[in-house]
Parts: sequence; C-alpha cells; structure tokens
Amino acid sequence: MPRFATAHDRLRQLPSVHDVLVRLGGAVSRFPHALVVAEIRLAIDRARSIVLSNGVEHPIEDTVTAALSSLTQHSLRRVINATGVVLHTNLGRAPLGPLTPLTGYSNLEYDLASGKRGKRDAHLSPLLERLLGRPAIAVNNGAAALYLALHELAAGHEVIVSRGELIEIGDGFRIPDIMRSSGAILVEVGTTNRTRIGDYRDAITDRTRLLLRVHPSNFHISGFTGRPYLAELATLGRERNIPVYEDLGSGCFVDLHPFGITEPLIQQSLDAGVDLVSCSGDKLLGGPQAGILAGNPELIARIRRNPMFRALRLDKLITQTLENTLRQLLLENWESIPAIRMIRMTPDEIRARAERLLTAGAELQPGESVIGGGSTPDQSIPTWLIAIAHPNVVAAEKRLRSRPVPVIARIEDDKLLLDLRTVFPEDEDELRAALSELAPTN
Ligand SMILES: *Cc1c(COP(=O)(O)O)cnc(C)c1O
Repeated sequence: MPRFATAHDRLRQLPSVHDVLVRLGGAVSRFPHALVVAEIRLAIDRARSIVLSNGVEHPIEDTVTAALSSLTQHSLRRVINATGVVLHTNLGRAPLGPLTPLTGYSNLEYDLASGKRGKRDAHLSPLLERLLGRPAIAVNNGAAALYLALHELAAGHEVIVSRGELIEIGDGFRIPDIMRSSGAILVEVGTTNRTRIGDYRDAITDRTRLLLRVHPSNFHISGFTGRPYLAELATLGRERNIPVYEDLGSGCFVDLHPFGITEPLIQQSLDAGVDLVSCSGDKLLGGPQAGILAGNPELIARIRRNPMFRALRLDKLITQTLENTLRQLLLENWESIPAIRMIRMTPDEIRARAERLLTAGAELQPGESVIGGGSTPDQSIPTWLIAIAHPNVVAAEKRLRSRPVPVIARIEDDKLLLDLRTVFPEDEDELRAALSELAPTN
C-alpha cells in the first residue's frame, strides 16, 4: 500500500505541459511551438510510465531539450568503415564516391533534341546495353527486380526453383515470400544439396512459365552437392519454350578474378543462354541502391510495360548516381568506383597506408578483408590490419564510434582491428586523430 501511495504522489507531482513550457522559457524559442508541446507531452508520458514501473525519472525539461536538440541533428551520417567489409550491409553496402546531386530541374523525362517528352530510361539504357550487350532496365532494388520479373512473367502460373536456392536475402526477406507476393506459384524441385536437370524436366507442366535460378549469394554449401550447369538449364528452357531467369544477387559487371573474387559475371550468365538476369546496383556493381534486369528484348519490353514498373522506378537522384557509376564502368575508370577500387587495392598498398597511421601500442598484422553485402560468401582477400591492444577494448571500440565522424572497427582476440582497405584515403587524418585519442596514456 505505501508503495502505491508513493507512486500516486509522484504521479500527482508530474508537471503540466504549461508548467514545463514556463520553466523552459526562452530555451526552446527557436523551435515551433507545436513541436515543443508535442515533445513535452511525450516526455510527460514517458515520465508517467517510469513512475508506474518504479523507475527514476529525469527532469522533464532535460528530456525535452535533449529530444529537440537531437531532432536538429542529421540521423543519416557519414562514418569511417574500418571493418574491411567492402559491401557492409549496415554501412550502406557499396560506398558512393563524391557526388554533386543535381539540384533544380533536369531533362529527366525530356528529350532535348526533339523538345518532346522522353523516358527516364534513356539515361541508363544505352550504358547498360553497351555493358551487357542486351536490353536492360533499372528499378528500385534487386528484390523489386525479382518481384517485377516474377509478377509479369509468371503471376498465377508456376515457377520451378531448386530447393537449394530458396534463400533468405537478409532482414527476413525470403525468395518464397517475394514469389508468393508476386502471384507466382513456387514449384520446388530437388533437395537442399543436390538438384539434377531431370528434376526440372519432370516438374514442367503446361502451367510452367519460368525456370528460376537463384545465385546462393550469402551462404555456401560444400560436400556432396550439385546443380545443373546454367547452359543445361538454358537448353531445357529452349526445348520446352520456357524462359530461364537467373537472380544473380550481386551481379559482377567487371572481372574481379585477378583480385581473388570468384563471383559470376552477368555477361557469363547471358552468354550461357539465360533469357533474363537481375542483380543489385549497390553490391559488386558498386553503385547506388537499384535493381538491374537484362536479357531477351521481348521479356524486357513486357516487364517494362507492367504497371508495377511505374511503382518501382528509380528516382532522379538515383538515376543520376547510377548513370555515373555505369559510365565509369564502361570507361573502365576503376578508381572512380570506390568498391572496385577497394577490391583492387593490393596488400602492399594497404600496408604502406597502415604504417603511416601506426600509433603507440598499435602494430600491423596480416588479415583478411571480406566482400560482404550478400555476395561472395566466405570470400576474402588478404590485407594488413592495424591491431591495437587496449586495456579496455570494448570501451575503445565504443569511443571510436561515438566520435562526430564515427569510426567503425572490429574486435578480435581482445584487440581492436582496423582495415584500411575500406577507409577512404581522404579520411586518414580523421582516423589518425581518432586513434591518437585512444592511446593508453590518455
Ligand atoms: C541481395 C540479393 C537480392 C536482393 O537485392 P536487394 O538489392 O537487396 O533488394 C535478391 N537476390 C539475391 C540472390 C541477392 O543476393
């Protein structure tokens, strides 16, 4: 009973909105009145639930000023990625190079030559077609490309997929779920580890509209495994007049084999006879979030006409950014595409950069950079790491990521590890400052 009385008293002592407004006075005068009142209400509500759960409430004025101040800060911020994961899913996948976003008006859907209405595809299609040798379109992301292709080509009909390829992309998104929402009916064949060409052949009915192949991008099965060659699948599709579609996920535009990456090239899939491929724009392509669909002209034209294309189309800022990335790819300006530049960087170059950043208590050690981003599972490339032994390595890691320009590092074997492969050279001074503040003498 006394406890209830106490909570009751504390609830009665909570200030009114007016009380808080008076106490805050001029401190919040630069904010819109309605916003201040809304934040005060939220803070009072929060204080009420803290009281009811017997917690310790903060002064309401402090909560309100902190909330208002955080609303003036950018939430999406630049960070320094020292993890060595090139396509870090949590850090925005492929990093973008310097950009000057188009402000004002643009010729987004205007043909400057004729003075008539144009299509926004016109900015990307010529580049994609030269890169891939096939007609291609771009949509909002890889999942949208998959959805759109399934929806246009197979809604209400059957799509045959190997059980070994029914993957979860990440964040709970699964191929069977995307397929269901597209209206296509999933027909699973084979087993988790082995699927034969005969399994596909036996599953074909007059309701089959697609043979789907999904590149198992983020995991790897080893041992007693097997699936048909792409060319076998393509031959079966041609014999039965059913298109073969490959969701490549990462979709490499550039041969990165010389740099230790064995990810299939889009051109290779198309050359193997696949009718349609899709991939993401912000994985190994190295551009902004987007989904690319390329292949048979009639299939691409059908997908382009689907009403959902309009719902999934690219915005002008992404169109500008993707156009830029595709042009750099076509002109082989690898240095202008940060993800590709990072992958091509040799361990010696990274070592030389790391040596210049060594502080007291830090040393160099060989290690591995990871491609990440749902591509090239278990694929890594050699690098040199800055390893920092610190009395409180967890606190040090937290301190790095609490900086105005947060530095994201990893902890392994009680050491803080930093990989310069993923650090932009222009961020090295900032990183040096961050590391010097960590020195144990501080
Ligand atoms: C990443 C991926 C997708 C989804 O692409 P987003 O661009 O993330 O939407 C689809 N399929 C595969 C095989 C992938 O690896």
